[in-house]
Amino acid sequence: MARLPIRTYPDPVLAKKTQPVAEITPEIAKLIEDMVQTMYESDGVGLAAPQVGHSIRLITVDETGPKERKNPLVILNPVFSDCSGAKESEESCLSLPTFTCKVKRYECLTLKGMNEKGEDIEIRAEGLLAIILQHECDHLEGKTLVDHASRLKRTMYDTKVKKWKKD
Ligand code: ZN
Repeated sequence: MARLPIRTYPDPVLAKKTQPVAEITPEIAKLIEDMVQTMYESDGVGLAAPQVGHSIRLITVDETGPKERKNPLVILNPVFSDCSGAKESEESCLSLPTFTCKVKRYECLTLKGMNEKGEDIEIRAEGLLAIILQHECDHLEGKTLVDHASRLKRTMYDTKVKKWKKD
């Protein structure tokens, strides 16, 4: 397993809509292992393939975090259904260092997709897990937290990122 470098905003791969995964090839299996390790070592609770430079529909999630590692989930080609409720919370993203943003999400949802063994899975999620799943699926549509932020907040972050590049 290897820790992969995380792509950060405004890397174009983060703004691209991703492609479905037809089957678990050895390359995909390796990428899944590396993504789970990268998620944990980066102290994250979720990671989407575009964040490590792959424009495909694959996410890894563990709402218990890198210390507990109790509920690692791998979902390919995720699709939401039965979404209900609304909850706003402050989110951050490994691809957007220092950036946080309040986002309104569904409280409960069902997510269908394929797991790392190529089996069909269905997950009923609420609370933190539901929020993370929606955040990671945003990445698959080329959407990040800056797309949820006000124009002013986004402009301020753009300025900050440009300054980092210069320094
Ligand atoms: Zn993110």
